[in-house]
Amino acid sequence: MNRYSVITEKNPREIVLLRGSGCKWRKCSFCDYHLDFSCDEEENFQLNKKELAKVKGTYGNLETINSGSFCDLDEQTVEEILRICGQRHIKRLHIECHWQDRHSLAEIRQRFAGAGVEVIVKMGVETFDAAFRDDVLLKGMEHAKPREIARFADEVCLLFGLTGQTERSMRGDIETGLAYFRRVCVNLMTENSTPIKPDRQVMTVFEKQIYPQYRDNERVDILLENTDFGVGGE
Ligand code: SF4
Repeated sequence: MNRYSVITEKNPREIVLLRGSGCKWRKCSFCDYHLDFSCDEEENFQLNKKELAKVKGTYGNLETINSGSFCDLDEQTVEEILRICGQRHIKRLHIECHWQDRHSLAEIRQRFAGAGVEVIVKMGVETFDAAFRDDVLLKGMEHAKPREIARFADEVCLLFGLTGQTERSMRGDIETGLAYFRRVCVNLMTENSTPIKPDRQVMTVFEKQIYPQYRDNERVDILLENTDFGVGGE
């Protein structure tokens, strides 16, 4: 699995896929990404250290992702990220956090701010249709509204290509994301080991009606494949 990559377009940054103790939620009906974890902290640290060593600091902008939340990373890994940020002049660190872990964020932001690094939090909300998100996709976000989510997250991930989504709902999700958050990252559903499958008709609507409109928007990342950032996969 490739764990380090460089994103050269739209918000250029280096990206590292790290490994932590894993998503604690593990209930989202569409997800098997939470399988990338290990309970062996030392083993995780050694793997993460090796990947973090590849970071050059080219853009002063680094994204670290892991299956789950940043707070699921072991302490040695966090220390190593801090060290790398200092040594390679990284001023912005993008991290991920699940809604259930939102209260861990204040301390993380403060800790990195102390080292001169701004933390930017991306949260997977998948859709702002709270009933679909939390009752069908089982996202566990307690029907939180965009304004509440924006108290904790700076950026959001959306998931498109699911049965029931329409041109109107997808456009509405992107526009809500742009209204409340700095950036929006659209992921398209890809086949995985869960029973939720990509809906080809919805995909076609996305590709024809939505994609052309937002493709060049600097605040919108669109991942047609979930490996488009260059990390993950086999
Ligand atoms: S919170 Fe994220 S990693 Fe965890 S089950 Fe849901 S989508 Fe998967």
